[in-house]
Amino acid sequence: MNQQHQKRTATIIAAHGRHYLAETDGEKLQCVTRGKKTNVAVGDIVHITMTSPDQGVIDKIEERKTLLYRSDQYKSKLLAANLTQLFIVVATEPGFTDDLVSRALVAAEAAGIEAHLILNKVDVADALPRARERLQMYAALGYPVHEVSAKTQPQETLALLRPLLAGQSSILIGQSGMGKSSLINLLVPEADIATREISAALDTGKHTTTFTRLYTMPDLGPDSAIIDSPGFQEFGLYHLSEGMLERAFVEFAPYLGHCKFYNCRHLIEPQCAVLAAVEEGKIAKLRHTLYGQLLHESSQTLY
Ligand code: GDP
Ligand code: ZN
Repeated sequence: MNQQHQKRTATIIAAHGRHYLAETDGEKLQCVTRGKKTNVAVGDIVHITMTSPDQGVIDKIEERKTLLYRSDQYKSKLLAANLTQLFIVVATEPGFTDDLVSRALVAAEAAGIEAHLILNKVDVADALPRARERLQMYAALGYPVHEVSAKTQPQETLALLRPLLAGQSSILIGQSGMGKSSLINLLVPEADIATREISAALDTGKHTTTFTRLYTMPDLGPDSAIIDSPGFQEFGLYHLSEGMLERAFVEFAPYLGHCKFYNCRHLIEPQCAVLAAVEEGKIAKLRHTLYGQLLHESSQTLY
């Protein structure tokens, strides 16, 4: 049978340089981009022209529904495509950083992705009240907070999270030590084996475990997937315009359009409705401070 030039459509499940692994109906296909392009992201649906039974060349990327970026040397680089949900994993102990939580929320808002928080390690009873108190701010903004314990209540954790993941393409992110790997291993028991297979197929070298990979979850329905990005450090937010940034802070919404100046940046301007809301305690200071910081960071990249 002549396999050459046969066309396939598949989802990218891992990327390593120009080398990609795609999956369609459980079958894995190795593929490369044409030329030196590296414009393909995990989660992309691609059209492949086969050059051998399990290898091919990517001809086309289907239009993306969503796109998330990671930060790389002060630039926004592709992280994952077509995600529908972002889960931020935090723990009772060690403590989490509000700055990182809010950056993730901004990335999700800008990409048009639903954001949830998972509070893991609720078994650490003495640290639980403080963690709940800190997360109250995010719950008040409308972000659901789910309490779990990957280690001491795995069955309850699965029962709570699995319905949320059904039919969705989700990414779990978190600072190290929060228990994200524990959750991934619970949700995708075959994760370790799959990672080794992907690593071998892409020839990433024995010790490379830091590539982004997508696990399909057929038992949760056809479009269910979890994306894990172990080496992930920071979201790329440099590409966000001022307008996108102010809209990514959902609590600013009632005040936008009510400032004295139509092009108000909500930093030092007189009669700024956003600044007034910060003064009145209606907008958390730390969120507004991060907004200013992100505005500064994205303007820096212009030079
Ligand atoms: P990651 O760095 O976010 O991937 O975190 P890990 O999954 O490696 O977990 C970090 C540490 O927290 C490990 O020692 C885990 O055993 C522990 N851990 C994970 N989940 C829980 C939990 O629900 N309760 C407690 N007490 N410890 C946990
Ligand atoms: Zn303003």
